[in-house]
Amino acid sequence: MNRTPLVYAIVMMIIVALSMTTYTLLTRTVFPFQTHGYSESHSLKEEIKRIVEEVKHKVEEIRGLKFPPQSKVIIINKTWVMEHWGPPPKPSKQMLYKEMVYKLTLLVPPNFSIVKGEAEWTASFMAATAGYTLYIVEENFNPKDPTALRAIAHELTHILQYHYFHPKYPSTLDGRLAVLALIEGDADFVADRFCNLTGIPPRPQLGIPVDNPYIALQSFPYIFGEKFIAYLYRKANNTWTLVNKAYSNPPKSTEQVMHPEKYLQGENPVQVKLVVNETTRPVLVDTMGEYYILLILATKTKPQQAIQAAKGWGGDLLALYYDNKTKEWKIYWNITWDTEEDAKEFYNTLTQALENIGAKITTSQNKTIATIWNYTITITIQNKTTLITSRTNPE
Ligand SMILES: [Zn+2]
Repeated sequence: MNRTPLVYAIVMMIIVALSMTTYTLLTRTVFPFQTHGYSESHSLKEEIKRIVEEVKHKVEEIRGLKFPPQSKVIIINKTWVMEHWGPPPKPSKQMLYKEMVYKLTLLVPPNFSIVKGEAEWTASFMAATAGYTLYIVEENFNPKDPTALRAIAHELTHILQYHYFHPKYPSTLDGRLAVLALIEGDADFVADRFCNLTGIPPRPQLGIPVDNPYIALQSFPYIFGEKFIAYLYRKANNTWTLVNKAYSNPPKSTEQVMHPEKYLQGENPVQVKLVVNETTRPVLVDTMGEYYILLILATKTKPQQAIQAAKGWGGDLLALYYDNKTKEWKIYWNITWDTEEDAKEFYNTLTQALENIGAKITTSQNKTIATIWNYTITITIQNKTTLITSRTNPE
């Protein structure tokens, strides 16, 4: 089967999305798995289950961990997936807040819909795990395609992780992406070793799909996770010791994943304070991280420049406000850099990036004001800190 790297990337990313919802699936579905929607094709079902058993033995050998008896396989179809795992027709409050943050930080254009993004995402995955259960989507899954075997090896690793390590997901975007990179990187590393052992061609190297920033954001664990795991594996003399240990001391930021030496040196994110002049409480507070900043820049400037400017991230804190009276949205975002030079480099690159997409720019000393679409964005720089405020203009 011929897949373009992009198509391949999307298929693999969907698996991440579902892995991310593991807890939701487990807690909200008490009797979810009725026979409704299941494959009627017993032969396909049996064939898949036989393949899974075969792959299981290899994964046990590679990962040095035995499968628990409670692991099982369920075959589902696309309709079932959208019904059970698709986004709601209207965004929940939390989804809407995230959508506003992505817009006000200019990651996505003003017409971006998080519901559509999530639906696109959910529609095309081929396998997923929740707890001890491996789900396989029959329409997207061709047992004769070797990449399907790779996907099974990947997913089976998630069952081992769930059983032996109980990974926990932090509440910040940056922290969550970092833990997911550990989880997905481990699964990809196992899957690639499985391919080596069985003569299946390795997956193509994934790049950052900058033309689809929402997908690019979700795909962080696939793009950077495996390199992180490979680093730890090598550092432990080609053993799983450091990888296994990482589950009780997971990477704390996308920075640590992208620069694994910082993880081993324990270079943790700095604590950032945000002082704002608002009378209400923020509706959302988050830490976005180096990768998020890289993406914002990479979608508007040369990738190499974006990578360079995002480096030197020390920590950040973002707060989203909504004014009930004026219906205005507003973010404050403090990013603290390792050095004043790093802060300056980011400040200049961001100003240039905004100019590149047609923003009207006015600059004074230490301050840039940009207007674009329906937003007014102010960037100020002071020593090692840059502060971004971004608000929707009154209609
Ligand atoms: Zn996965």
